[in-house]
Amino acid sequence: MERIQVEKTASRGIAAAPVFVYREPNLTPDTRPVTPEQTEGEAEKFEQAKKRVLEELQALAEKNAIFAAHMEIVDDFTLREGVLSKIKAENKNAQQAVHETIEEFAAIFFSMDDVYMKERSADIKDIGKRLMAALKGITLQDLGEIDREVIVAAKDLYPSDTVKINPQLVKGILTEEGGITSHVSILAKSMDIPILVGVSGILSKLQDGSMVCMDAGQGIVILDADEAVLGKFAKKKEAYQRERKRLEELRKYAPVTSSGKRISLCVNVGNVEDIRYALPLNVDGVGLFRTEFLYMENTHFPTEEEQFEVYKEAAVLCPKELTVRTLDIGGDKSLSYYEFDKEENPFLGWRAIRISLDMKDMFREQLRAILRASAFGHVRIMFPMLISLEELREAKLLVEECKKELRKENREFDETIEIGMMMETPASVLLAQEFAKEADFFSIGTNDLTQYLLAVDRGNKKIADKYDYFHPAVMRAIEHIIEAGHKEGIKIGMCGEMAGDARAIPLLLNMGLDELSMSQGSIDYARELILKH
Ligand code: PEP
Ligand code: MG
Repeated sequence: MERIQVEKTASRGIAAAPVFVYREPNLTPDTRPVTPEQTEGEAEKFEQAKKRVLEELQALAEKNAIFAAHMEIVDDFTLREGVLSKIKAENKNAQQAVHETIEEFAAIFFSMDDVYMKERSADIKDIGKRLMAALKGITLQDLGEIDREVIVAAKDLYPSDTVKINPQLVKGILTEEGGITSHVSILAKSMDIPILVGVSGILSKLQDGSMVCMDAGQGIVILDADEAVLGKFAKKKEAYQRERKRLEELRKYAPVTSSGKRISLCVNVGNVEDIRYALPLNVDGVGLFRTEFLYMENTHFPTEEEQFEVYKEAAVLCPKELTVRTLDIGGDKSLSYYEFDKEENPFLGWRAIRISLDMKDMFREQLRAILRASAFGHVRIMFPMLISLEELREAKLLVEECKKELRKENREFDETIEIGMMMETPASVLLAQEFAKEADFFSIGTNDLTQYLLAVDRGNKKIADKYDYFHPAVMRAIEHIIEAGHKEGIKIGMCGEMAGDARAIPLLLNMGLDELSMSQGSIDYARELILKH
């Protein structure tokens, strides 16, 4: 038995379950050339790998049609010819031949102008991964296929892994890397799964199935727990549930401070399901709808119609407001069907509004969908990552153009829809006064604001101790944003993780914040703090 204490925690909850160790497979190809006599054997290895992959895909195709399309690609004549000619004419081994052929195929598709064809490049890479795993005799793990209660342990998890998790079965998450505001943390919290990140060296100490206990709030992990510890954790879990019950009793009260200020208490969501979970908590609505998950969970850029259906459902559900943030992809969030160029500094790169303003047709589809949904509730549009007034004006102009089109088409929408922005770049803080004259509301994104103000990567465990939203520079920036916004008479919210931090809430209320938007797991705690304030 071993006890590990994690210093920084940002989640709550107790879990005890066998561990599921999720390991990134090493799919680097073997580069050794083969002799002419060995080529037949390598060709046979490829045929066998292809057979195994087709069997795997056959099973998956029963649940999801995308895999039937993958089967066609694996069975494609030109792919087979490409691999075999590299083996036979160039004396490459099967792994190297597959690697090079897949790269060539993916590059051809990626260079096509048609967005649909471009998206196929990621499918080809996915198939390449399967073929390589089969050639190396590795079984690829898939978090979506977990079928029993477990605690997942991994080096790190990307949002694309995390979205596959079933919160009914995954009782807790432990990662060696990542920070408390990395997207895996945020996603786990939105699913109310206890998570601890930055748990150094844990993978080397774990084996699949060994019993692990964790207390996310206290930062405690116990490996190979014995009966006595398991009993103690069961008691702890009961106490935790009693506390949750007590807080539930407060849900009937509107979040009003003792001085009489009504605070808007909202939830951050990634899909409609999250809104349904949050409604019983008596929230005022959604302060941040991270629409990128709608894009990430898809096999193609979602169409206007597909998005409209989602936003409309969300708008109908939300009691007071639905703040839809336009696509914030890039940084650590990627799409399986669109290959981004490799960047040295993705968080300082082609991300969020920058992509939207470069890919205007795609942006228009999203804006039209949001506008159309505004006929069904109190919908607000929010732009991420702005650094200049020009960007805000360009984005607002696009909204105006979309409105014009919709009027022509006789489609309904809210003519007075509010357009606001995330305050999450240092430039936006320094220009807060100017932005406040042209935006209808601000929402402070402390996750990015902290990383950009302090020059500390939000997902880098090595410098996690420097990632601190209580740093005086961040606090001063928040104060400045609120003051500048209030001068122009606009409401100021916060949707970064700080908004749900019990230590921060009293300070933020003192500073005059009007809205707090957070993961659903923090709502009950926040309400009590507001009522007591
Ligand atoms: C933020 O940066 O604080 C924020 C809420 O946005 P995201 O975490 O999605 O980058
Ligand atoms: Mg952000």
